[in-house]
Amino acid sequence: MLKVGECWLGDERMKAMILHKQAPIESSPLICSDVDKPKIKEGELLLKIRCCGVCRTDLHIVEGELPLMRLPLILGHQVVAILEKVDEGINNVKRGDKVGVPWLYWSCGKCKYCRRGLENLCDNALFTGYSIDGGYAEYMVAKANFVYTIPKDYDDLHAAPLLCGGAVGYRALKLTRLLERGEGNLGLFGFGSSAHMIAQVALNKGLEIYVFTRDKKRQEHALSLGARWAGAPIDEAPVKLDAAIVFAPASWIMIEALKKLDKGGRVVLADIYMTPIEQLDYKLIWLEKEIKSVANVTSRDVREFLIEASKAHVKPDVTVYTLKDANKALNDLKQGRIKGSAVLKIT
Ligand SMILES: [Zn+2]
Ligand SMILES: [Zn+2]
Repeated sequence: MLKVGECWLGDERMKAMILHKQAPIESSPLICSDVDKPKIKEGELLLKIRCCGVCRTDLHIVEGELPLMRLPLILGHQVVAILEKVDEGINNVKRGDKVGVPWLYWSCGKCKYCRRGLENLCDNALFTGYSIDGGYAEYMVAKANFVYTIPKDYDDLHAAPLLCGGAVGYRALKLTRLLERGEGNLGLFGFGSSAHMIAQVALNKGLEIYVFTRDKKRQEHALSLGARWAGAPIDEAPVKLDAAIVFAPASWIMIEALKKLDKGGRVVLADIYMTPIEQLDYKLIWLEKEIKSVANVTSRDVREFLIEASKAHVKPDVTVYTLKDANKALNDLKQGRIKGSAVLKIT
């Protein structure tokens, strides 16, 4: 037996941070535990986890803002891991490969949404670290067709944030429809972890970026990355926007984005939440303007984004924690004390 942190481990056992009951993160509800290593079934892979990103969705699960799908639960859906066991008959990956696992753990491939390539809307989908145990552990099981090769130019810690904030932001960027045009003025409302990754991809694709945030440091950061202009959400924009992505969950910011939108433009809402829209003046959507929300990601989004991020040399800022400090990482996220994205370094 080998002692690691506060847990005792044997060969068939592993260390994991386990949620037994939803509670405020200040009460440290994730318990460091010694549990059986998971076993693979047909079509599955056993992953030895290197690191796992910490996401605001994890906090929502812990604190009860999202309903539970199972208990006890191991959180974590931005997993970077090495394949330790691969079920017979799987040939898209092999033992020793380094892969990522995002929020979409599995989709049925049969429902009407999956058949249209909208597996993000699948009625039967499973989600990593929510309906299935995730990456706040030394090992996890994944489905062979739902893991993604990590580009060689990324180390483990900088690859993890690409798998959630980066991939969901990329879906939002695709839904603006500016990528297929290869030009246009794109407004980014909010400039946190997801927006700063997407800005780099958008610039690399030839779009002009205009950033709207009240935070002066974030405005400077945006300009240093190549944004044409940065100001507050209520400021007048120097140009009409062909599309905008709203990263903040505030409806007044969506209204500000609509005011700055050109004819035929689209505002994409990248957050799961939005404060109620109390009043929407029809003239804000007149002239074929649209509002579109984003719900998680498809396999194709993740695959494409990892390639585009590598081409654009997207380098997320990370703050590193140990596995047993997962409660602290989530608490720091809640208190806004993290620069960039928090990542748990596991092995
Ligand atoms: Zn996430
Ligand atoms: Zn489906």
